[in-house]
Amino acid sequence: MHYVSTRGQSPHLSFADMLLTGLAPDGGLYLPNIWPHFTAEEIAGFSGLPYWQVSRSILSRLTGDSYADWELTADIKAAYAGFDDERIAPLSEIAPGLHLLELYHGPTLAFKDIALQILGKLFARTLKKKGGRACVLAATSGDTGSAAIAALGGLENIEVFVLHPKGRVSEVQRRQMTTAPFANVHNIAIEGTFDDAQSIVKTLFGETDFAHKVSLTAVNSINFARIAAQTVYYFTAVASLGAKPVFVVPTGNFGDVFAGEAAMRMGLPVEKLMVATNANDIMARALKEGVYAAGKAQPTLSPSMDIQVASNFERALFEAAGRDASWVGEVFAEFSRTRSVTLPTAVREDLAARYSADRFDDAATLATIARVHTETGRLIDPHTAVAVAAGYRAKASTKAPVVVLSTAHPAKFAPAVLQATGQSPELPARLQGILTAEEHCRVLPAAADAVRAHIESTVTFS
Ligand SMILES: *Cc1c(COP(=O)(O)O)cnc(C)c1O
Repeated sequence: MHYVSTRGQSPHLSFADMLLTGLAPDGGLYLPNIWPHFTAEEIAGFSGLPYWQVSRSILSRLTGDSYADWELTADIKAAYAGFDDERIAPLSEIAPGLHLLELYHGPTLAFKDIALQILGKLFARTLKKKGGRACVLAATSGDTGSAAIAALGGLENIEVFVLHPKGRVSEVQRRQMTTAPFANVHNIAIEGTFDDAQSIVKTLFGETDFAHKVSLTAVNSINFARIAAQTVYYFTAVASLGAKPVFVVPTGNFGDVFAGEAAMRMGLPVEKLMVATNANDIMARALKEGVYAAGKAQPTLSPSMDIQVASNFERALFEAAGRDASWVGEVFAEFSRTRSVTLPTAVREDLAARYSADRFDDAATLATIARVHTETGRLIDPHTAVAVAAGYRAKASTKAPVVVLSTAHPAKFAPAVLQATGQSPELPARLQGILTAEEHCRVLPAAADAVRAHIESTVTFS
């Protein structure tokens, strides 16, 4: 088992080396050279097992010989010890045949904890073995940053730089990042959009000398270790339902929904993966019309999905094109010149066999939060609501169970929930401290030079 780049021009890596590398040096994204396969019996056998055990079964097949079984067991158990529901990713039914897969029971109340908590543990373990240091650089549209900080804050030999778009994340999201009391955590507010922040990250990774000098590494969903960890809840959901469902995934960078494709490629029976987007609908347009074209990011009530470039789509394209790395290289060279590519018919058809897409604006988001509240008494967050809107529509035309990935706790986005329902979800007690704690953050212009200089002046690597 080793990892290959979607653009075919990077060295093959073990899981542990891939984990520390993040983005491939040729600009591509890493994927396993072949997908491990789980039989129907193995999947049925996951039903009723503790989450960590399913996670270990799946991750051990993706990590190859990078870790001993006892190491994986220890790290997975430690990763999920801090969750407030021991089922980790429980299902709950909100209408007949329509389920929420609750992914927000981790320390920062969003689904990114599920992958980043384990990634942090594996990171620390891998660095310790190799005797190195690392400088983690992440762009966040809101939730990745706090989850990365919760996972990596205070760890030895790791410096964490998190770029968020200034004024475009919620107050709770910002405070979860900026109040972190760790000397190795460095928050940067970029005067621009999430796409600006992400493009700075890509630029700095592309500067090989600099990247090498500071041992730059990524924990964004371009890191396959995150996708690997996120496949697990697709398996537990199918095992627990004992049926072949439609999954509806509130989508930004396409990482979470691609984890669904990864699960399918490992043998999981899935009826369809529905991509639900807000007004930033590059993915809905790509899947419906076959044109992948970046626009301008616009702020919405679901800010963690406010992006115009969906990095992980590259992985789906690589697979849809029969793993033709030179074609993928050409497509993204064209995309970086023109910001738009038209997908060949064969690729479109291959994608359409697995994915469908739907888009909902802020008005529909608010109406859906209100509807769920009226019908069930539950408060849901605006990201979940975008997908629930798609889920109601899907349920009307399928007998299959519909599982909506519920990606954040409503308290993280209280103003939108209040606007929709007149009720304000309460921040769980363990998070109340962030509302008054001191914030630490540097504001920088949306320029790679400024960020590089700040990193160089902050860390001293030999
Ligand atoms: C990150 C995030 C998403 C989007 O996930 P992607 O993997 O980027 O598609 C959706 N909802 C919430 C709450 C998020 O934090």
